[in-house]
Amino acid sequence: MTTLTYDDNNIFAKILAGAIPSHNVYEDDKTLAFMDVMPQAKGHVLVVPKQKAVDLSQLTPDYAQAVLMTAQKVMQAQRQVFEREGIVQMQLNGAQAGQTVFHYHMHLIPASLHELGKHGAQLADRDELANLANALKAAIAD
Ligand code: AMP
Repeated sequence: MTTLTYDDNNIFAKILAGAIPSHNVYEDDKTLAFMDVMPQAKGHVLVVPKQKAVDLSQLTPDYAQAVLMTAQKVMQAQRQVFEREGIVQMQLNGAQAGQTVFHYHMHLIPASLHELGKHGAQLADRDELANLANALKAAIAD
């Protein structure tokens, strides 16, 4: 059973605190979007709220709204950069559902559901992630 007690040492809390590096795509006062380092498809982005929420049940409406607004920006940029319409939006609640990082996050994956690889399985090339993050960042700023 997943505990709903927020662990301040989880990896996304460290990213939000700037304690470990991330390839950021977009940031505002309530959210951060960055490249998934072990992507399920090229261009896999995670959107996280700047709120200590383990999963969807703990996300307050203001942060839920902010996550969705950021997700729309990111998705639009993914469509532009990857010239594809299909983006999978995924979000796992609880270890039983496959959640591995216990800070709420929305996955945005330029892929079809049937071609998704395993997430969290293989580290992507760091330079490629940096290039993809820059391309998405530029598309959002357009
Ligand atoms: P979930 O299984 O839904 O909790 O997804 C966690 C995601 O976080 C996986 O897709 C991992 O590849 C990703 N991930 C883990 N560590 C990092 C990290 N340091 N930076 C970016 N993504 C990460």
